[in-house]
Amino acid sequence: MVPEPCELGQLQIGYIQPVNDLGTPFLLATQVVAALRSVIGEQSAVLHEPTFSGNEWLYLKECLDSTFVSSVGKFVDRFEADLAAFTCAKHAVAVVNGTAALHIALKLAGVKSGDEVLIPALTFVATANAVTYCGGVPHFIDSEENTLGVDAEKLRDYLEHHTEQRSGQCINRITGKIIRALVPMHTFGHPVDLDRVMAVADDFNLALVEDAAESLGSYYHGRHTGTFGLMGTLSFNGNKTISTGGGGAILTDDAELARHAKHLTTTAKLPHAWEYRHDEIGYNYRLPNINAALGCAQLEQLPAMLAAKRKLFQRYQAAFATVSGIRLMEEPAQCQSNYWLQTLVLDAKYGDQRDFLLQATNDAGFMTRPAWVLMNELVPFKDFPRIDLAGAESLVQRLINIPSSSSLLQVVS
Ligand SMILES: *Cc1c(COP(=O)(O)O)cnc(C)c1O
Repeated sequence: MVPEPCELGQLQIGYIQPVNDLGTPFLLATQVVAALRSVIGEQSAVLHEPTFSGNEWLYLKECLDSTFVSSVGKFVDRFEADLAAFTCAKHAVAVVNGTAALHIALKLAGVKSGDEVLIPALTFVATANAVTYCGGVPHFIDSEENTLGVDAEKLRDYLEHHTEQRSGQCINRITGKIIRALVPMHTFGHPVDLDRVMAVADDFNLALVEDAAESLGSYYHGRHTGTFGLMGTLSFNGNKTISTGGGGAILTDDAELARHAKHLTTTAKLPHAWEYRHDEIGYNYRLPNINAALGCAQLEQLPAMLAAKRKLFQRYQAAFATVSGIRLMEEPAQCQSNYWLQTLVLDAKYGDQRDFLLQATNDAGFMTRPAWVLMNELVPFKDFPRIDLAGAESLVQRLINIPSSSSLLQVVS
């Protein structure tokens, strides 16, 4: 269905509060809608949708024909091997979703009841939830303009002033708790400044676990994100770069951590022909074979999807080049981003225009959305410790995600 052309004249009545004589909001919205239309055309577009155009049907049929639909089956093993091969991680453990992957990775990183874990305030709620599943306390840190990820220098300065080392552990001087781990997140697929982030983790004795849920196919200095920390986690939710319906994975180079992750996520059952003996409290977090079958088919198409997403970025780049007051988020230097979600960053002076632009673009049939509400503003997390969050607070007012599906250009051209 072709959407009605954007009635900006009507919008003006309800939403526009001109900030200057030039009527900037109106002008900006007109330019943004026109730029989107020049790339996407007259059709409407959702933010992100999966594409199943490879061997998905074939592999799913194989699961059904063999009756191996559930917790064991050859596609689980193959998906894990394929993921390890693609990311160059030594081991990959497939699990039921990205949140479960984070939960187990943090548990194996040693996060225990009362421990604090440094995570960006600007992230999806899964990162914070997973910390609490371990009994831990999310400790929110700031994000920077260049990568939209952890501001490592600000964090270093904060840790220097507010923590001390006691027998190789980082202690928060104010709360007296151990700060156990640091979880950078590669926002919308853009790698964080890993050299600086890793140096902070090293210098302050923090376990590094990367939330790479959004960055499958993203590289920092030629190496895949999620393979720098002790462990990294991926998500294959319906809106991610590839989808298994629901799914996730833990990446690690450590054979013992990989074995333990597999054990814990498969109910901690000891191998035996008939006996049900479990040697720890485990979790039923395994990825069913039918989801893994989808994953194998999706991974085969990943290089083509990444190429399509890069091409879409280039089209947007050309379209937005002439729109002043807005920056299209570009991969950081020496990084390769997967461009999972294409992102507009408004200049600081237009920080009050975000909602107007969201309204105008959605009315025009282009699904856009803001970044997440900051974690420290959510009711369950509002009393947890945090650093000054000026960077994240400013960014969240200025970020707009625009239609990003890898299938978008195939439909257009
Ligand atoms: C998608 C996502 C996850 C994991 O989500 P699931 O839906 O549980 O797979 C974790 N962290 C971030 C930042 C995400 O975007």
